[in-house]
Amino acid sequence: MNAVREPAKRRALAVAIFGFSCGLLLSSPAAPPEKKDIVSVERTPRLAARLQPLGLDQLFEWEGRVYILVGPRDIWKLDRNRIPYLLESHKFPALNSRPSLLQGGINGDYHSYLELETDLQALERSYPQMARLFTIGITLENRRIYALKISDNVALDEEEAEVLFLGCHHAREWISVEVPFLLAKYLLENYASDAGVRRAVNESEVWIAPLVNPDGLEYSIRFYRYWRKNRRLNADGSYGVDLNRNYGYGWAYDNGGSSPEPASEVYRGSAAFSEPETRAVRDLFEQREFQALVTYHSYSQVILYPWGYTTTPTDKEGLHRSLAAAMSTLMAAVNGRVYGFGPSAASSYLTNGDMTDWAFGVSGIPAYTIELPPVDQLGGGFFNAERDIDPIFRENLPAALFLIDWSISNFGASPLGLREARADLLRGRGKVPGRHLR
Ligand SMILES: [Zn+2]
Repeated sequence: MNAVREPAKRRALAVAIFGFSCGLLLSSPAAPPEKKDIVSVERTPRLAARLQPLGLDQLFEWEGRVYILVGPRDIWKLDRNRIPYLLESHKFPALNSRPSLLQGGINGDYHSYLELETDLQALERSYPQMARLFTIGITLENRRIYALKISDNVALDEEEAEVLFLGCHHAREWISVEVPFLLAKYLLENYASDAGVRRAVNESEVWIAPLVNPDGLEYSIRFYRYWRKNRRLNADGSYGVDLNRNYGYGWAYDNGGSSPEPASEVYRGSAAFSEPETRAVRDLFEQREFQALVTYHSYSQVILYPWGYTTTPTDKEGLHRSLAAAMSTLMAAVNGRVYGFGPSAASSYLTNGDMTDWAFGVSGIPAYTIELPPVDQLGGGFFNAERDIDPIFRENLPAALFLIDWSISNFGASPLGLREARADLLRGRGKVPGRHLR
């Protein structure tokens, strides 16, 4: 589809779909949440090796133990593999809480889907020359996945560097919506007064999709705070595909970096790009010519780059590392918080089918996962205080501006055949690298 190259036509279509989807939204009943527990397992190399293939949702490590989010089937797996665990749910009173919708939800200053929609539309209305809102996909529950394009002459597709910022592949990572949204707001509100912002907006096209997984976010707000995946009803009756395991490069490479089991928190889906959310990002990516991207997650306060599916370095390790180091330095200067950085698989754990592996694999551009604060569970885990939203945004701002500036400089230095070269690379999209090659 040519959604992004034909804004007028696409916007008319989006309005039509929205009129239709509101009715569906009101009438579709939400599925009951699965009962979840948190258990801990002693952190030893022997147990870690036995845990890895089970595809469980490992939340964090604390005082020598790995904390894992489990359902009844996961407990059964632990029992069957004779892995000793302690039940820790009592330490997490919010685990299975179901706040009343009449109380206005539990998300406070954080955006819900409708609040974000309202705010994105308001930005477009306030800055019609610089901001244009696109619907890049429709979710299983008929919500829209939005991308805001920010540039001077926003109605035109100019020959300028393009940079992509994404948020909230994972539902419970609420802070990852706020940082890209606030970046959009900042660029627009400071265009008139800040020469640096003006140059960035004039000489680039910034695309910001703060909420890749709106169905999951709504479920996390209304029913179950720890929800991670989208809301796909799987063949076995379980819910959800891990969107950051559903991209088409190295998809299903092994069962350690993602799980073939639908009930797993890292379930990769029935096929690469089986989900409307990942297809929306893929289609946007293929219709644009991005020079760099950041996809925000939480938590652990670290800047990650490919590969996730293997510990073998990419051929752009040096570039990835030097840009990450520069971003980390800029970030630390704001609030003193130090973001570590490194290749994803070697720095944290194996993942396959993730967004940055795919984007880098098909295009070769710098592609970063920024895991926002806190650094660990003791600092709050997935629960960032409302008062931390602004400081976390402020420290990420110079890194985002740096990457935009780098993209502008890099675009100017690129050979004229850039478009053709990228088209060649993209023709190989979706190709799963063979194990014998790497
Ligand atoms: Zn995440």
